[in-house]
Amino acid sequence: MEENLKEKLFNTQKDGWETVGEEEKSKIFHLANDYMKFLNVAKTEREFIKQTEKLIQENGYIDINEKKELQAGDKVYFNNRGKSMYIAIIGEESIEEGMHIIGSHVDSPRLDLKPNPLYEDTGLAYFKTHYYGGIKKYQWTTIPLSIHGVIVKPNGEKIEVCIGEEETDPIFTITDLLPHLAQEQMEKKLKNGIDGEDLSLLVGSIPYALEKGPDKVKLNILSILNQKYGIVEADLTSSELELVPAFRARTLGFDGSMVAAYGQDDKVCAYTSIAAMMTLTQVKHTAICILSDKEEIGSMGNTGMESHMFDYFVSELLNRLGANRPNLLDKVFCYSKMLSSDVDAGFDPLYASVSDKLNAGFIGKGISLNKYTGSKGKSGASDANAEYVAWIRNVLEKNNIRYQVAELGKVDIGGGGTIAYILANKGVDVIDCGVPVLSMHAPYEVTSKFDIYSAYKTYQAFWKE
Ligand code: MN
Ligand code: MN
Repeated sequence: MEENLKEKLFNTQKDGWETVGEEEKSKIFHLANDYMKFLNVAKTEREFIKQTEKLIQENGYIDINEKKELQAGDKVYFNNRGKSMYIAIIGEESIEEGMHIIGSHVDSPRLDLKPNPLYEDTGLAYFKTHYYGGIKKYQWTTIPLSIHGVIVKPNGEKIEVCIGEEETDPIFTITDLLPHLAQEQMEKKLKNGIDGEDLSLLVGSIPYALEKGPDKVKLNILSILNQKYGIVEADLTSSELELVPAFRARTLGFDGSMVAAYGQDDKVCAYTSIAAMMTLTQVKHTAICILSDKEEIGSMGNTGMESHMFDYFVSELLNRLGANRPNLLDKVFCYSKMLSSDVDAGFDPLYASVSDKLNAGFIGKGISLNKYTGSKGKSGASDANAEYVAWIRNVLEKNNIRYQVAELGKVDIGGGGTIAYILANKGVDVIDCGVPVLSMHAPYEVTSKFDIYSAYKTYQAFWKE
């Protein structure tokens, strides 16, 4: 009979906070503060890429188009249309030995303006919207919303819009029915409670004084937009304007242990991977950080991961390394390793029935690995090979990083997708690896500061391998 046999044999998940001392705790809180500051100026994919470009340039990263040749230690990036980005540190070993890739996405669920958004009804002016990504529509009514994005005129002039973030700015909102008159609405299924076409943003109510006839409130709004941005109604057809919650990222809980913020899926993994990369100088394997767009709607389009833009970037690395030859790109992918750094569904005790407690990611227990995602019978999943899971476990264990291996919900309930399968299809060894989130895809999502720090340490350790 052996003593402490349980400790030796059981895979017991400790609460992360019980494993850290005061010094580490202050590092955890420090990183979370930097993260929240970043989130407050990077609510959309365009803003995230803009802020990242600023940060990496300050750290000596150079636009790859400005570099003719590359060698070990060089730090370059490619900004794809201001909405996605690939960043690289050239490794000391030949790139033929494979790259170490970390890929997240910087788009988040939100409401987009329709191409012809502005109308007036009964003295009120509205913007029509089309929601982006998987949302519970009722969550987006009666909260303060801000408008972020760009309007591009036919002459190429680009107007950047960000209104609703400053204290002196107006905010916008989508109204909902008062309970007194909502008997019929309350009988509906939750998903039908609010109709997609009814997610219209209230933007004004004063009529334009010098005009007669209908649409005077609409005219007044256009007059204000014309003065402020120099645009006419038709210019909205060539715009990308996104409605996001106007509230700020905040510390959550008496103990300050959590972060509440919009867009943490997947900006929490994007931010921690960038922050980790900025601590690196030399790496053995070429380190790649992907910030992708359009993940929430299927990774399509030329800023989404399904496009060939990333292959183009890696080809450009090979060209500038003087290494390129036929089929080398395929070989490099086959020898590469990747963490698909996307958030996991955190176990929520209020909704315990949807998760298998033995295979769920818990808040505060460290980085969460999903061997596979997919839905109902692993359909559509990229299922990481056991050999690769063992490899990443070894990296985590030797660096004393707390981790959990989970799946997204119960077998016949669960499901979700990330960019993992896209790189896996190219031959890369990939596993999903991110921070567990509560209220995922809601206007205000919750994470643990301990897990945020675990993600940062995981990404650092992976690139140092
Ligand atoms: Mn995600
Ligand atoms: Mn998502």
